[in-house]
Amino acid sequence: MELSEIYQNNCNGAIWDFSPKISFEIFPPKNGDISNLFEELRILKRYNPVLVSLTYGASGGLNRFTFENLKSIRDLELNLMPHFTCVSMLKDEIEKHITSVENLGIENILALRGDIPDYMTDKELDFAHANELVEFIQAKTTLSIGVAGYPEGHIESKNLKDDIKYLKKKVDAGASAIFTQLFFDNDKLYRYIETVKNSGINVPIVAGIMPVRSFKQIQKMTSMAKVTIPAKLIQQLGKYPEEALKIGTEFAINQCENLIENGVNSLHFFTLNHSDQVSEILNNIF
Ligand code: FAD
Repeated sequence: MELSEIYQNNCNGAIWDFSPKISFEIFPPKNGDISNLFEELRILKRYNPVLVSLTYGASGGLNRFTFENLKSIRDLELNLMPHFTCVSMLKDEIEKHITSVENLGIENILALRGDIPDYMTDKELDFAHANELVEFIQAKTTLSIGVAGYPEGHIESKNLKDDIKYLKKKVDAGASAIFTQLFFDNDKLYRYIETVKNSGINVPIVAGIMPVRSFKQIQKMTSMAKVTIPAKLIQQLGKYPEEALKIGTEFAINQCENLIENGVNSLHFFTLNHSDQVSEILNNIF
C-alpha cells in the first residue's frame, strides 16, 4: 500500500479504537545479532504499527541490516520501510540494492542522501541530493517512497525556506510521505506543517518522536542536528540525571498528547530498540 494511503486511512484492527497511526524505527544491533530485536518487535507489534522502519548506516558493516535480516523481520508480518542512503554508492550499486529490496516483497523505502563523510567531495557522488535518488527509485521500482523532513531546518541549510524548496523537489520526484527529524518543541512542528502545506506539498507529514533516555543522548543530538530542547526539559535532566528515563517518558507522553489534540495523527517513534519505554508511552496515551 502507498505510504500516503497508509497515513491517510484509519488504522484497521488496532488494539484501541483511535485514528492516530503509529510507526516505529529500529536500528541494527552493534553485534549483528538480531535475536533480541525480535523480542522487542513482538512487543511493539501489539500496538499494530502501520510500519516499522529500519535505519541504514552510511558507513556500512554492522550499521546495516542484511537482506537476510530484512527477510526475517518481514516474516513477523510487519510492513517494513528500510532506510537507504545514496551518499557513498554508485548508481549501479544503488539499482542493485533497491531491486533486491523490492524482490523481498517490501513495498516502501525511506530515500535519503545521508551525511557526507569528511573525506568525500560532492564530485564523487553519483547522486548529490535525495531528490535525485527519489527520481531514480521511482523510475526503477514500484516502491512507495518516504523522505526526510526537518522541522527546524537541516543542519547544512541556510534557512528553512530553502530546505522546504528542496523538500518539494523530493515530493515532486515521487515521494509520498515525509518523516520528520526528532523535535521537542511542538510549536516548531505546527509551523513547519503549515509552511510545508503552503508551499504546495500535499503528502502526509509523519512526526518523529524520540523519547529521551539520558542527558548524554540529548547533548549528542543537539550537536548533530538543529533541534531546540525546551529549557524546562534541560533543567530537569540536569538536576536529576539519574531520573532521565522517567523524565523523558513523561515528556514524550505530554508531547504526543499535545500533538494528537492538535490533529497530528501520525507518530513515528525512534525506539532506539527499547520497546519498554515506547510501550509505556503508548499505554499512557491510549
Ligand atoms: P537531502 O534531502 O539531499 O538534503 C540534504 C541537504 O541538502 C539539505 O540541507 C537540503 O536543504 C539540501 N538540498 C536538498 N536537495 C538539494 C538540491 N537539489 N540542491 C541543493 N541543495 C539541496 N541517515 C543515515 O545515515 N541513515 C539513516 O537510516 C537515516 N535515517 C533518517 C531518518 C529520518 C526520519 C531522518 C529525518 C533522517 C535520517 N538520516 C539517516 C539522516 C540523513 O541521512 C541526514 O540528515 C542527511 O544529512 C540528509 O539526508 P536527506 O535525505 O535529508 O538529504
